[in-house]
Amino acid sequence: MRDFLLIFLAPRGLARRMLVWILCISTTAALIATSVQLFFDYRHDVSELEQGMRYIEQSQLPGLADAAWNFNVAGMQVQLDGIGHSPWVAGATIHYGPSQSATLTTGQVDADAGRRFEYVLQRNGVVVGKIFIAPNLHTLYSRTLDRIGIVLATQSGKSLVTSISILLLISWMITRHLTQMAEFAKSFEPGKRFTPFVLRRGPQGPHDELSVLVDRLNDAYGRLQTAHEFQVRHNEILSQEVTQRTAELLEAHRQLAKLAITDKLTGAVNRRGLDEAFKSAIPLAAPDSRPLAVILADIDKFKSVNDSRGHLVGDILLREFTGILKRAARATDTVGRWGGEEFLILCPQTTLEQALRLAEHLRASVQAHAFAEIGSKTSSFGVAVLRKGETADDLVKRADEALYQAKERGRNRVCPETPDIKS
Ligand code: GH3
Ligand code: MG
Ligand code: MG
Repeated sequence: MRDFLLIFLAPRGLARRMLVWILCISTTAALIATSVQLFFDYRHDVSELEQGMRYIEQSQLPGLADAAWNFNVAGMQVQLDGIGHSPWVAGATIHYGPSQSATLTTGQVDADAGRRFEYVLQRNGVVVGKIFIAPNLHTLYSRTLDRIGIVLATQSGKSLVTSISILLLISWMITRHLTQMAEFAKSFEPGKRFTPFVLRRGPQGPHDELSVLVDRLNDAYGRLQTAHEFQVRHNEILSQEVTQRTAELLEAHRQLAKLAITDKLTGAVNRRGLDEAFKSAIPLAAPDSRPLAVILADIDKFKSVNDSRGHLVGDILLREFTGILKRAARATDTVGRWGGEEFLILCPQTTLEQALRLAEHLRASVQAHAFAEIGSKTSSFGVAVLRKGETADDLVKRADEALYQAKERGRNRVCPETPDIKS
């Protein structure tokens, strides 16, 4: 009820504006109807007055003419008073006698001189007098005024009651539902549990325009909700796909990065990979506390394998040789193909002695291995450690010189770098 009153009294509300309009229209209509009715009532009253005069003329004036003929003054007065008692007559004056100089009067003859009725009294064809009757217009006017008052009061009351009734009905049957629909629309949030809007007029309410509007509203919000859920699901799928694709891309990138630093034939790190390993190892190395050693390995008389058994066998030998190096090297070492049948093992945190021991272990492992189709094969090793202020090229150069020494001294051996004269 409180809501209903609020709707009804809302200053800019539909109900209030409608009340003003209904009142204006019904009042104008009532005024027009009242004016028309009053006009016809007035006409009717005027015609009643004229009928009353005709009655007096026909029924009372002959008696008055008789009394005037006989100079019966008392009779004339009685007749005149009789006329004066008519509700339509305010007063009357009769002029009689010679030259009609004598007069008799009843009532208020001057009430409305402008609307006097005048009759000539005759007897046997002789004029015996004249009578002036003043009509009782006061009665006419007051009756009309009374009617105006009554009609205006009843019409205004009727208009007011009708207007307020219509307005209450509109507020109760339409406006409050529209306001509730607006509240519902305001409270709707995509993703929030959607409860269809129900008109507050009982479940068995009529199926009218409002129910159609509510059905359409619920339909629209239902579709909106479905579209939202679809979009959320779609986004989830999309996000899963993006995550999966990103993981795949990262994996592909990782594979590519690995491939970019991997030698295709042997699976060892390639020259580019070795360069990167040097780049990260050299800044971390310190000749006294964190020595960095390099072992260069070269298969002895490899060319003869190619020449006698063909390149494919040579390739297999390269792969097997790589396998031996990788298995023997430590997890922190990097085994890479330096070029052709030459390999480089980068050993961080390794002294010259430790590197020589590792190289010796590698050499023995190679020698002990039975290579496919070839059998035994040997290899030579050159070992060097990073000196202060050196570059990777300087280090490899000294390891290469050591390797050269190993070849020179008859192969299948490990040679250390030439000691630094200063140290
Ligand atoms: P040394 O004992 O002095 O090292 O003799 P060597 O024959 O091993 O040395 P040399 O440098 O004369 O020969 C290396 C050969 O390695 C030459 C080249 O044909 C061969 N070679 C280089 N890369 C590959 C490869 O990828 N596959 C095969 N099958 N052979 C290769
Ligand atoms: Mg060789
Ligand atoms: Mg070589």
